[in-house]
Amino acid sequence: MSKKKKQDRPTPDTLRLPCVGVESHAHLDFEPLALELPAVLARARAAGVDRLMQIFLGPEAYRKAVALFHPHEQVDFTIGVHPNHAGECTDEALAAMEAICRQDGRIKGIGEIGLDFYWNRVDPAVQRTAFAAQLELARTLELPVVIHSRDAHAEAVAMLKDLGFAHRPVLWHCFGGDVDQAREVVAAGWHLSIPGPVTYSRNAALREAVAAVPLQRLMLETDCPYLTPDPWRGTTNEPALMAFTAVEVARCKAMDPAELWAATGQTAREFFGLPACPAP
Ligand SMILES: [Zn+2]
Repeated sequence: MSKKKKQDRPTPDTLRLPCVGVESHAHLDFEPLALELPAVLARARAAGVDRLMQIFLGPEAYRKAVALFHPHEQVDFTIGVHPNHAGECTDEALAAMEAICRQDGRIKGIGEIGLDFYWNRVDPAVQRTAFAAQLELARTLELPVVIHSRDAHAEAVAMLKDLGFAHRPVLWHCFGGDVDQAREVVAAGWHLSIPGPVTYSRNAALREAVAAVPLQRLMLETDCPYLTPDPWRGTTNEPALMAFTAVEVARCKAMDPAELWAATGQTAREFFGLPACPAP
């Protein structure tokens, strides 16, 4: 945790990024963010975040919170049963998600889905079944997929390939791997989303991976309210703080942060089929 006092830390608006950024992965329905959503979104806009992807962890989460987002049309959605809750991915849940996706044009993807052998809260066999069923749903609906993979990289890659998802729209959310894993994802035609921990001093391997990946395959995310980037580590994460992640990723790519911000935003727009960038 940073030892700096809150008031000594720069706010993200002082980084002066243009308002063209896209947050590719947020849990805005989680507390405390949901309790002050208009203020969270206003701070995001002031920091240059033009659009956001809200990740619903299944049909229940969607039904409970979707109305919160009706006044905020800059937010689009994905929906999927997380591997840590894979037991909830019943036939009823799959049918409910299919109906929601067909009714709500703001749903732009299936996820986060995948495998989590770090927490291992759910039997791996149950996780595999839920992952495969939801990939099938994404194929039926022709929607992009957002992957959650923790301590499961090789098997997640293998399952995606076995099920015919090489060179389909797949986004590796919260990427935290090394150069070899990043290259494997890119070689399969997939994208990587880089979270706040890229700013942590111990994460040299991730920065090396970011440097090695083509810019057109990179997006940025917070995974808020978790994984707050420096210099705000130790506080609740929110989309505005993605600006600090952008500055670090730009450093890895030896690029101007504003250019990196625009490029990763454009990649996310194309990947999820979001509206075009506002005219300058
Ligand atoms: Zn997430």
